[in-house]
Amino acid sequence: MTSQSEQHFRSNFSDGTESNWSDWKWQLKHCIRSVETFEKVLGIQFSAEEKEDLQKTVNKFPVSITPYYLSLIDTKNMNEDPVFRQSFPSVQELEVSRCDMKDPLSEDADSPVPCITHRYPDRVLFLVSNTCAMYCRHCTRKRKVGDIDSIPDREQILKGIQYIKETKQVRDVLLSGGDPFLLSDEYLDWILTELQAIDHIEVIRIGSRVPAVLPFRITDSLVNVLKKHQPVWVNTQFNHPREITKSSRTALRKLADAGIPLGNQSVLLACVNDCPRIMRALVHKLVANRVRPYYLYQCDLSEGLSHFRTPIGKGIEIMESLIGHTSGFCVPRYVIDAPGGGGKIPVMPNYLISWSTNKVILRNYEGIITTYKEPDSYKPIFCNRDCENCDLQLSLDDADEQKALGVEKLLSDSDDAISLIPAENERTDRR
Ligand SMILES: *Cc1c(COP(=O)(O)O)cnc(C)c1O
Ligand code: SF4
Repeated sequence: MTSQSEQHFRSNFSDGTESNWSDWKWQLKHCIRSVETFEKVLGIQFSAEEKEDLQKTVNKFPVSITPYYLSLIDTKNMNEDPVFRQSFPSVQELEVSRCDMKDPLSEDADSPVPCITHRYPDRVLFLVSNTCAMYCRHCTRKRKVGDIDSIPDREQILKGIQYIKETKQVRDVLLSGGDPFLLSDEYLDWILTELQAIDHIEVIRIGSRVPAVLPFRITDSLVNVLKKHQPVWVNTQFNHPREITKSSRTALRKLADAGIPLGNQSVLLACVNDCPRIMRALVHKLVANRVRPYYLYQCDLSEGLSHFRTPIGKGIEIMESLIGHTSGFCVPRYVIDAPGGGGKIPVMPNYLISWSTNKVILRNYEGIITTYKEPDSYKPIFCNRDCENCDLQLSLDDADEQKALGVEKLLSDSDDAISLIPAENERTDRR
């Protein structure tokens, strides 16, 4: 089930037999973790100077590349290769730019217990693993991932589970890391069982790069574990169409056939995928493999990522090229994860051109400018969140969100707020 290049490549490993190659544990054991091994396996040589720089980078941010992922590199065109750029260290990672931050998303500040980030009202991020098969050079958690001091142990996981148990508003748990699929089937089964046993948990999500970098990890036995704990959603991370190979297709098929809904979260990366045509090819390949593009992330402000960042305009240009031009479910949501911990903020081209009291002017993807006439008589429904006595007569048992938040609150009838005022505001402080 391997591609031409994988087959050719396998011969570079003395014990790289067909069955070993597709054994995920063999892959992990043979991960390329040094510049020397990289040179040896690919039969190339860096200059002494280059090597010294690379070594400095590796000392700061560890390297690990699965033989499978390495085999996708086109060595004839290595420096421009999207697989190479995502996996092989670059001396540019040592450049600290003016806007770099240690923890740009303030994940630590929103962390009630060590492996949980609780940022949104009804869902939490649960970091259950600290290792990855391949260390993405663009990883936002670069500073932590691979650091042996922050591997969450069973006790820490139990503390996380305890927090979720006690926090009744959490209905969605997002397992991430590191890569949760690097845990053993038994350990993952244990975590999923514990979470599933909590009454208020409605859904579990797993974020994993394994389908792209170690597709053989998606074994029948892992799929059976996931199947046992439905609803479990899996979010993959494919950033370039080249990552979708015969082996990764097999992995995706196994997951989809088991009824596991699949999404994809890409990161917009300079010189990797910052191109409307590459992105269009990627989303088309994803949906052909039953994966729904979910997010396109603007690259974060973490240290060591400056060479990967694009202007936001590039993301908007990509969105412009997708919306309307291709199937709606091929289009991810482009988001900027707000520095300082504000969460994901969606960014879109503007389609609303102007507005009067009864007319809205819009433009479509082709540039056609159109008017939408609003109703002359619309009787707004006054809502004081008293659903029992509302004209709409929805019998919503779970209309449990009592408090409106943010701009939603300003729009709501049941709240008197007329403005949102920043916590630090000199003018209001003077009052
Ligand atoms: C992304 C993220 C989530 C999940 O957000 P969704 O928009 O629901 O996918 C939850 N918590 C944290 C801290 C996150 O960064
Ligand atoms: S798989 Fe995720 S956590 Fe691991 S290195 Fe890549 S981006 Fe970071």
